[in-house]
Amino acid sequence: MILMNDFVAEPAELKSDMRSAAARVIDSGWYVLGPEVRAFEERWAEVCNVGHCVGVGNGMDAIELILRALDIGPGDEVITTPVTAFATVLAILRAGAVPVLADIDPASALLSPESVKRCLSARTRAVLLVHLYGQVRRMEEWQALTREAGIHLLEDCAQAHLSSWSGHPAGSFGTAGAYSFYPTKNLGALGDAGAVTTGYADLARKVGMLRNYGQSERYLHPLAGMNSRLDEMQAAFLLARLKWLPAFTEKRRSIAEAFRRRISNPYVRLLDAAEAPEAHAHHLFVVLCDQRKELIAHLERQGIQSLIHYPVAIHNQAPCKAIHKDPLGLSAAEYHVSACLSVPCHPQLADREVDQIIAAINAFSP
Ligand SMILES: *Cc1c(COP(=O)(O)O)cnc(C)c1O
Repeated sequence: MILMNDFVAEPAELKSDMRSAAARVIDSGWYVLGPEVRAFEERWAEVCNVGHCVGVGNGMDAIELILRALDIGPGDEVITTPVTAFATVLAILRAGAVPVLADIDPASALLSPESVKRCLSARTRAVLLVHLYGQVRRMEEWQALTREAGIHLLEDCAQAHLSSWSGHPAGSFGTAGAYSFYPTKNLGALGDAGAVTTGYADLARKVGMLRNYGQSERYLHPLAGMNSRLDEMQAAFLLARLKWLPAFTEKRRSIAEAFRRRISNPYVRLLDAAEAPEAHAHHLFVVLCDQRKELIAHLERQGIQSLIHYPVAIHNQAPCKAIHKDPLGLSAAEYHVSACLSVPCHPQLADREVDQIIAAINAFSP
């Protein structure tokens, strides 16, 4: 079976790096918020070209912590997309704020600026942009839109490690960026992990307090925070895996390029290409097919796993039935979730497997 992710197939050298990282932490006798976490925070801030990075428990907490640090809460509206991981919207709800869903641009599945403008109100405090599938696009437009509206630009970078626009990495465009290092992300830990990136020292300091009960110094709590600390073991694994991230990202890009060049089937459509190779991290390679069920079964018969990201738009999830949305509706999002399918695009794929995936898609007829 060609899998969506294949950690067992990772290079022996990477596995041995991870074993050394684990041994280093065990021998140190220090397990939560220590030197490994500080070293990873410094490295990730450099990679993202921002002044500050704060390691946290996971990607969802990273979003909630940013909102809480900015005092975005009850009564405040945050505009985001209905085509995302549930965590994006759940983090807004957990912060006590009001999510407002704008529609997507069907060609990229990213938020539509026109729809976001229709969602603006006197209560809007931020746009939470999701770099879906790894795409970072037209960031100067989002910076202008949020600047003119007098609101924060926030980035959900959970799928966009090493993706950049005009030389600037994801997580460096707005007030702050939220990263997830869940194992299946392009940079993944061996458990849960996340980070907040920001250029603002005061915001980083506040997130650093909020992740640890709101503590400023030992046993002193000026804020009512949460427990979302990053542990030493995960930070050490992330440092080991970070060395491989550039090569793994290049591999994803070359697989995606082969898919774009060679997939040709009237029943299968692709999203628009990235405007530059570095503007897409190819966390997921997504095709659109109106006969999706049949395509999934066809791929399965050919020994190829596939997954739907995401099968249900946020406004159709049970806890979000009454969610605020674009007055013109979310029809592009609804169509996208009915037709999208992710096919394997991970760095451990062999060339032969890439050929097999392309041949299987091209041979599909409903
Ligand atoms: C994975 C993901 C998250 C949540 O990250 P966790 O670490 O699982 O909490 C948020 N947003 C997007 C777009 C994601 O893909």
